[in-house]
Amino acid sequence: ERVVDAQAGDLERAAEAALRPGSLGEFVGQPKLRAQLDLVLTAAAQRGAAPDHVLLSGPPGLGKTTLAMIIAAETGGVLRPTSGPAVQHAGDLAAILSSLNEHDVLFIDEIHRLARAAEEMLYLAMEDFRVDVVVGKGPGATSIPLTLPRFTVVGATTRAGLLPAPLRDRFGLTGHLEFYSDDELERVLTRSAGLLNATLDPQAAALLAARSRGTPRIANRLLRRVQDWAQVHGTGALDLAATEAALELFEVDAKGLDRLDRAVLHALCTRFGGGPVGLTTLAVAVGEEAETVETVAEPFLVREGFIVRSPRGRMATAAAYHHLGLTPPADGAF
Ligand code: ATP
Repeated sequence: ERVVDAQAGDLERAAEAALRPGSLGEFVGQPKLRAQLDLVLTAAAQRGAAPDHVLLSGPPGLGKTTLAMIIAAETGGVLRPTSGPAVQHAGDLAAILSSLNEHDVLFIDEIHRLARAAEEMLYLAMEDFRVDVVVGKGPGATSIPLTLPRFTVVGATTRAGLLPAPLRDRFGLTGHLEFYSDDELERVLTRSAGLLNATLDPQAAALLAARSRGTPRIANRLLRRVQDWAQVHGTGALDLAATEAALELFEVDAKGLDRLDRAVLHALCTRFGGGPVGLTTLAVAVGEEAETVETVAEPFLVREGFIVRSPRGRMATAAAYHHLGLTPPADGAF
């Protein structure tokens, strides 16, 4: 378990519930998307209609689930959460659809992983508010059309590009969540501290924000670790000293890199002369699975400009050397 992981398990999601903004007004950042949603929701409320279907794309931990909950709160309906992998058969989706009430919000996380048959059923449900329920099997099977109440689908995906065009086209509003600025993360952190009945020192907030990789989930997790440290070793105050100590304990550096990130960079710079080196070779050098290096460490290292992926393998940039306090080779490929 990494303290800078943008994903969360079920237990952590339960802990996150207390920190979730309950309205658009409380939701920090994403100003464009917030304004678009506000318009769509207000207009729908004025008409007494269910809002258009909404597709939210973006990396994990940036607030897609939170926005789905806010949309349900605004429509006055119930949030019905499911996910692409959980819907194995069209029948699973038919059961969910036929239990929806007027103005409910059907939240489908990882919507790009829906089974094909379920996807086709969803087209009809989203467009015509109808589902054909198949009763019986074989030649005797009959299809009974069922009219559905007006509801709203909120689809979430980390990979919008993987969605088939017919599905994408059925969303009236598509929003992409961007990484948060340090300033926005400071606001998330200060708000969260308040909800945890604590006051976060402004200097501590700035330090935490800078190490949270643009992701509120990571910011909130680091904050909980600072609170732990302050309670066990400190004075209880969420001050700079407690923050620095907690970050050091969890080995999160000034750029938000942890031990694995630095091990990958270090191996690339010192053992492979900056690359290019193949993923598998690099993974063996740090004692990890290739998949872990590729999906857990690399995305952020690439995003921060420490690594470039080339057809010949991974290469370290000058910034990677500088970050590790090393001198880049004079003949570097950058
Ligand atoms: P996943 O794809 O892993 O489900 P997600 O994009 O749905 O992630 P959320 O679960 O909505 O992310 O958010 C993660 C945590 O970050 C929650 O605790 C939430 O309270 C907090 N958070 C996210 N966005 C914001 C925001 N804009 N303002 C305040 N807190 C936020």
